[in-house]
Amino acid sequence: MAVDLAAVDELDPDLLIGREIARPLARGRLDGWCEVQSPWCQRRGREFSHRRHASQGGLWVAENGLWACGHGNLDGCHGWIHQHPDDAKDNGWIVPWPNDPATVSTLIHTANYGHARVFLDRSGGVRLDQVGDAA
Ligand SMILES: [Zn+2]
Repeated sequence: MAVDLAAVDELDPDLLIGREIARPLARGRLDGWCEVQSPWCQRRGREFSHRRHASQGGLWVAENGLWACGHGNLDGCHGWIHQHPDDAKDNGWIVPWPNDPATVSTLIHTANYGHARVFLDRSGGVRLDQVGDAA
């Protein structure tokens, strides 16, 4: 499905599901930089890190993914998240079933608020929860 990202706010949220739309929306939130910025950060993002895993019903939607550096479980922030699940849950980087990622805030780096605890939405938007420090 070809989606015009500039018009994404006008689209039905039910259309904004799938790898080909969720990845660019997540990547665009911080212009391709890693949003997580864990202690292992490599700065430039390269992967969509699912907050609620697909095996737990997590969808390919913008609010369910963080644009993260690293390679899978191995290195960078994607690796840090997988290897530090308790801290990752505290930061909203992992959202266990049955919680809805849209209603669980996450502590990330954002274009508008800097390092802040925010709620993510399906259109690639960010809404401030509270400013805070990493757990
Ligand atoms: Zn990173």
